[in-house]
Amino acid sequence: MVRQNDLKNKNELTWVSWNNNVQHGYTHHHTIKKETELTNIIRHTSGKVRVYGSKQSSADIAAGTDSLIDMRRYDQIISVDDFKKQITVQSGITLKTLITTIQSRGWSLPCLPDIDTVTLGGALSTGTHGTGRDGKLLSEYMVSCRMVMADGSVRKIQKGEELMDAARVSLGLLGIFSEITLQCEPVYTLHLKEQPMHDDQWLAEYDDLLENNDFTRILWMPHTDHGYVILGNKIDPDTPVKHNPGPDYLKHRRAVSRMLYKYTTKFPFLTTIANKIIYKLFFTSKKESKGTLYDATVTKSRSGTLELAEWTIAKSRFDACFRELKAALDNKNNAAYVHIPMDIRFVKEDNSWLSYAYGEDCVTVGCVTRDASSADDYKAFEVVEEIFLKHGGRPHWGKRFEAKDAELSKLYPKWEDFKSLRAELDPEGKFLNPYLTELLDVKKVAKNKNRAA
Ligand SMILES: Cc1cc2nc3c(=O)[nH]c(=O)nc-3n(C[C@H](O)[C@H](O)[C@H](O)COP(=O)(O)OP(=O)(O)OC[C@H]3O[C@@H](n4cnc5c(N)ncnc54)[C@H](O)[C@@H]3O)c2cc1C
Repeated sequence: MVRQNDLKNKNELTWVSWNNNVQHGYTHHHTIKKETELTNIIRHTSGKVRVYGSKQSSADIAAGTDSLIDMRRYDQIISVDDFKKQITVQSGITLKTLITTIQSRGWSLPCLPDIDTVTLGGALSTGTHGTGRDGKLLSEYMVSCRMVMADGSVRKIQKGEELMDAARVSLGLLGIFSEITLQCEPVYTLHLKEQPMHDDQWLAEYDDLLENNDFTRILWMPHTDHGYVILGNKIDPDTPVKHNPGPDYLKHRRAVSRMLYKYTTKFPFLTTIANKIIYKLFFTSKKESKGTLYDATVTKSRSGTLELAEWTIAKSRFDACFRELKAALDNKNNAAYVHIPMDIRFVKEDNSWLSYAYGEDCVTVGCVTRDASSADDYKAFEVVEEIFLKHGGRPHWGKRFEAKDAELSKLYPKWEDFKSLRAELDPEGKFLNPYLTELLDVKKVAKNKNRAA
């Protein structure tokens, strides 16, 4: 996969993603603080334009156009409705600022990703999600928004309108999220218990675990036959809980993993040994704690970058898909030496056109390399994609995958509707970069339209 576009033609300035793996030249750059600035730029830009947030997507979706708009200073809280527990914010706000603000009011967003440095606009656009029995994509908590359209006009979109179902997860292709109103819920305290479990056991029990716990997350570890199962249940905040964070050295897990996997880049077969060491050191002790969903489960700092892929599969097809995945990744004869852990999470069905959970509850499975610079040679991305595609799995929009229109059109019942709506709302393709053009096969849409005419 080409991760850098032709920089020599545009040697003025370079946009670089957080892990350096996506780089693009550009000619015009804008930082906005007001909606009117956003509408004016969009209205008066004759060429193509993309907006970006924290640049933390692995997919090439945030730049690649001559004009770029940085949304990160468009980050204010606009209003709070205490009666409805709703908050309206500008879309460049980070999840950290958003969640600490609502938590200080005694509210929560009940399903959170494992990162808080991303912007709300970026997170919504890519279908960012967490896990839980009732957990949904973050964008499902959006009850209304103001969207800046390709002609620079602003449309207010409300929950219940069909356009909202299309817009919730739309990669900035239908318009740019400006102000967003989110429905919050009362904050709650989770009692978390974490322990290793043999693959045979968690595979037999995950449905019951999901049903019987408010929070379920499984960190799966190829080459060890184990997953590390994290379960959480809501408790009264005053309930005493024996705090057991495990041995002190656990805090070095990411740094040790990075060091070990650095060597396995040169000698991939050593990954099996590295995985066993990391499992033994960091995933065999039991832990217990309590805290809010945000305080107790979201990672607040990372020692370095990653390159991420993530695939999702309808819960009804997870078993078959996972068994094939495990067989492939554990097989010593394949070159897909995958870094641990692989994050398994659960998301509730919804109606958003490009949601992974459109029409069916789904299970998500992460795949990362801790050495982002060698991501192009990381075979596991290919093996995982091949297996998930075979089982009808859907890729995370913000992460790395190769599938394009031909495959995606089979996976999303509303794919063609989304493409038609995009062409109607943005007929000049103002919000398209080369990657997104190929992803949607936009030329084909134009050709089909001509044929129909
Ligand atoms: C370490 C790490 C952990 C992660 N954990 C999770 C996780 O737990 N769950 C999960 O689902 N994902 C996770 N992700 C993926 C991440 O949430 C998404 O890639 C997210 O989009 C990144 O947000 P950003 O602000 O960096 O957006 P960017 O990468 O800057 O942009 C993403 C997309 O959103 C568009 N966009 C940005 N702002 C707007 C706007 N205002 N209106 C319209 N479009 C906009 C951009 O054009 C681009 O297409 C993780 C990523 C990393 C690096």
